[in-house]
Amino acid sequence: MKPIQSIGVIGGGQLGRMFALDAKRMGYHVVTLDPHEHSPCGQVADEQIVAAYHDLAAIEELGRSSDVITYEFENIDIESVRHLESLSYRVAPASRVLSVTQNRLFEKQFARDAGLPTTDFARVQTAGDLAGAAERFGFPAILKTVHGGYDGKGQWQVNSLEQALAAVNAARGAELIFEKEVSLACEVSVIATRNAQDEIVAYPVAENAHERGILTMTVAPARIEPGLAAKAQAMATLVGRGLGIVGTYCTEFFVSTDGELLVNEIAPRPHNSGHYTIDVTPCSQYEQHIRAICDLPPSPPRLLANAIMMNVLGEGTGDHLAGIAELLSDPSIVLHVYGKRHAVARRKMGHFTMLVDGPVDDAAIARARSALAKLRWTA
Ligand code: ADP
Ligand code: MG
Repeated sequence: MKPIQSIGVIGGGQLGRMFALDAKRMGYHVVTLDPHEHSPCGQVADEQIVAAYHDLAAIEELGRSSDVITYEFENIDIESVRHLESLSYRVAPASRVLSVTQNRLFEKQFARDAGLPTTDFARVQTAGDLAGAAERFGFPAILKTVHGGYDGKGQWQVNSLEQALAAVNAARGAELIFEKEVSLACEVSVIATRNAQDEIVAYPVAENAHERGILTMTVAPARIEPGLAAKAQAMATLVGRGLGIVGTYCTEFFVSTDGELLVNEIAPRPHNSGHYTIDVTPCSQYEQHIRAICDLPPSPPRLLANAIMMNVLGEGTGDHLAGIAELLSDPSIVLHVYGKRHAVARRKMGHFTMLVDGPVDDAAIARARSALAKLRWTA
């Protein structure tokens, strides 16, 4: 097979940008496709095709310019990936992976079939379905759109049948999943990479804090018992193998207050909770992804320092990030900014990694939180 020189990336967001930065360092030509000009990835890629994700002519152009094509965002049009495959272009991960992970019902059913526990769930489209699910599982619950949600979008936390009915009405006929709300001890994730030879490497388990459905902080390694961490890594390995993923992927878990590990979501791409790997491991989740899709050997993950990753979210108060000098007066901090023009409220604009000597404790987390508070968005 001809060596890979050019990589195509569908989606031009920050994950594509960090992927492209590593790909450029390794000497690849990078072409991205995104509907918006000057996308975060487009700013660092060699070329950007400005087109909709479902524009098959543009997708074919991406195929012609690339030796392998990947994606950085999983809500892209699956037909585009199938189209590339039908023309024998190399795409990783394959469309059959997306067909499972783009559908919250298929994703949970896949986990169950692989012997991995999940929260109780049911498909809901009508008031009748809802009454059945409510009766079987009770409240509190979360209703989520089966397709297309991310960062807590398309979700309704409900405590009664009345609230759940209001959510079903708000969803206007969209297919929903009813999930029993898990009483959470914490949330964790495992970033792993699998290649076509079925070699799998997994990073240490990361611990994630969310606010209103959006990731705000990752602590690596997670402050959980080693036995539970090993179990999460083994479960993540089963996920990658079961789906036949080629590339970096993330398995998100709930740790219930009963100490049970439940699979929440699978993202067949590098993930926000793996950003810390850029700064505290020799080979980031992005480089692992490049290695996997280019048929290169994986790098066994090695944590050179413990880390706290804080997301920098927009606030809707202006597009200029102030306080960077104050933030960087702490020598343990590395800042990443994604080059997005508008700091809309709750939009992921950047992140920083704080390198921590010794175990991550409450004092280190307090230090990271007060570092984040030095940043503000101004006009
Ligand atoms: P997204 O695609 O938006 O990341 P998730 O299903 O991961 O969707 O939900 C986002 C967050 O909402 C989770 O990380 C968790 O904090 C909370 N959440 C979602 N589903 C449940 C549930 N069944 N029980 C408890 N918390 C949940
Ligand atoms: Mg999630």
